[in-house]
Amino acid sequence: MTAKSVAAATRATVHGYPRQGRNRELKKAVEGYWKGGVTAQALQATAAELRRENWARLVEAGIQEVPTGDFSLYDHVLDTTVAVGAIPARHRAAVHADPLDRYFAMARGTQLVAPLEMTKWFDTNYHYLVPELGPGTTFTANPAKQVGELREALALGHSARPVLLGPVTYLLLAKPAPGVADDFQPITLLDRLIPVYAELLADLRAAGAEWVQLDEPALVQDRTPAELNAVARAYRELGALSDRPKLLVASYFDRLGEALPVLAKAPIDGLALDFTGPAAANLDDLAAVGGLPGKRLIAGVIDGRNIWINDLEKSLAILATLFGLAGRVDVAPSCSLLHVPLDAAAERDLDPQIARWLAFARQKTAESALLARALREGTGAIAADLAANRADLASRATSPITRDPAVRARLAGTTAEDARRAQPYPERAAAQRARLRLPLLPTTTIGSFPQTAELRVARADLTAGRIDTAAYRERIEAEVREVITYQEKAGLDVLVHGEPERNDMVQYFAEQLTGYLATRHGWVQSYGTRYVRPPVLAGDISRPHPMTTDWYRYAQDLTDRPVKGMLTGPVTMLAWSFVRDDQPLAVTARQVALALRDEVTDLEAAGAAVIQVDEPALRETLPLRAAARPGYLDWATEGFRLATSAVRADTQIHTHMCYAEFGAIMTAIDELDADVISLEAARSHMEVAHELAGAGYPREVGPGVWDIHSPRVPSTEEAVELLRAGLAAIPAERLWVNPDCGLKTRGWTETRASLESLVGAARRLRGELEG
Ligand code: GLN
Ligand code: ZN
Repeated sequence: MTAKSVAAATRATVHGYPRQGRNRELKKAVEGYWKGGVTAQALQATAAELRRENWARLVEAGIQEVPTGDFSLYDHVLDTTVAVGAIPARHRAAVHADPLDRYFAMARGTQLVAPLEMTKWFDTNYHYLVPELGPGTTFTANPAKQVGELREALALGHSARPVLLGPVTYLLLAKPAPGVADDFQPITLLDRLIPVYAELLADLRAAGAEWVQLDEPALVQDRTPAELNAVARAYRELGALSDRPKLLVASYFDRLGEALPVLAKAPIDGLALDFTGPAAANLDDLAAVGGLPGKRLIAGVIDGRNIWINDLEKSLAILATLFGLAGRVDVAPSCSLLHVPLDAAAERDLDPQIARWLAFARQKTAESALLARALREGTGAIAADLAANRADLASRATSPITRDPAVRARLAGTTAEDARRAQPYPERAAAQRARLRLPLLPTTTIGSFPQTAELRVARADLTAGRIDTAAYRERIEAEVREVITYQEKAGLDVLVHGEPERNDMVQYFAEQLTGYLATRHGWVQSYGTRYVRPPVLAGDISRPHPMTTDWYRYAQDLTDRPVKGMLTGPVTMLAWSFVRDDQPLAVTARQVALALRDEVTDLEAAGAAVIQVDEPALRETLPLRAAARPGYLDWATEGFRLATSAVRADTQIHTHMCYAEFGAIMTAIDELDADVISLEAARSHMEVAHELAGAGYPREVGPGVWDIHSPRVPSTEEAVELLRAGLAAIPAERLWVNPDCGLKTRGWTETRASLESLVGAARRLRGELEG
């Protein structure tokens, strides 16, 4: 086949679409079902209506093959668990009568049983429910959802392609079930799982599927030879089935790397590859394996997880190269559109020119269709669209929003020294000790105090115009007073103002920095029915005015004890936003760092002796491939230091992170050069303190002694015991006493009781150590 005839057959498709509907109808229906106001039937009807609407919209936009099975009432990994019959025994036992209630029991737990664990879907901000497997797990095919949704689409007259999570990724995402040995490897269950996938495929074939897509994003991570063998075996066996649909294996979020030759050789009928960002390396890799002769390639040339318009001409150039490399090339966004909001056209508050830079799910769908059309009919057919695209890209590239000469000049003038504290740590530690005069084992919290119903009401009242800013300010001030008074009474040593004015630790700053935009309807699924509206980091970042100093001063004036200044670090500011894709992340991070540096300087000038810069996202943004990690950690840690290094020796810089797996970033934690770091540690019994000590970490550490993710109140004895475990690793002079994380999700009652235990434990041990 010639490249030209390949092009003539090009179609547009997508791997998945946002699930919730224009007005988050699904959220309302699911939560209504949980509360009892919506029947199961009504919930299923809403879900079917949303699928119908999504497919109709896709077809209208020029998508010729719609996905089915990507829809979910909660999570697609949980749907796969149901489809392969891997329902944990505890959920079967607790809710055996009703499949829908059992499904939600796995997702959210019940009074009697804990839910499945939730964790991040690769390096996105979507969370999935982790399958729990063990040597005793048996699988059984339950094709109902997949077959049902395929039938719906076919009955509506659509050409449809079922999409389901592939067997290898499913197993690689799983963890040993409770009670199963930690070193159990779910991938060893592959031989048991393959026949179940074979059955699902046969059922989909029987229901009318020509193609079935199996998503294997786990193959874009570094995989062992044994895992690659498992991939080869899985697809050799599925490919060898006699009456099967055509098989397409999809990968996204990065290059396939070593898995590409394995899949290219497998007896399957097509691959979907990501060609955006670092995954663009797939292009050369594909050429190197000799392409996919006679097979189908779905080319993900449109970034499916960020919100910027595509460079259509650049995509056409990539597609032109790909035509020589496969028997059929279709165009699609790189991954499911689950990770972007629905429709940029709904953003009527934005400057229309800027709104034209944005592409949400609906716009990305249209871009895919447009590219496919250009390939079938020639670029002349979309000449007007190409011209408009060129103009929009140019407007973005030359806008004062994306090019602020002052920001650029300042960045160009920064040196390596700017990202280094002037004094070595021992000198700083001595100066800080002299200034702060803290007791041994100082106590503190991570920043936020309970976000009470009254605070949420106040914020809603302000947004709705029921109260004015002055009245809102008064309510926040009252809260700060209460938090400070409480901490003094409780006997904490380093206080916080409680962050009552912050709706969210990123949004609060994004709203005040120039270069950030806010959307009104830019909701994306975080997990289940929880949606977030990430800010958009669109341009050069600067700080027109101080962001936190007023609240700091207000709090500090109420007490003689030190109050911490409280900021969010550059990596986290990027990780929880949609970030501009027109310059390296390192440059964007440096701009944010400089804005924060000004804030740090202002806080210091306002009298703050302790300033905390949170970086909870440092670990989660770690690139999927190990080879890319050192480069990332370099700019990530440099950004933190650039933000925090302008202070005097006697100003103490704290940082905070909230997760337990540090192995991969131990050196990076040291490179932050923070004077004090607080981390999650309660659940792992202070393991991280030992890891840090083992790595020779020289500075002060506050491993959490209260697991704030649970409503349980730790006793003084428990906290003492944890602190003793901490003291076995970190000397008393360098050990802090604090909870695992901020307290904004906790209630006041548990907070009071837990902090009492925490302070009591610190006092008891001080007595022993000094006595
Ligand atoms: N300072 C923030 C708080 O206490 C930190 C939150 C976080 O680490 N996620 O809420
Ligand atoms: Zn935290």
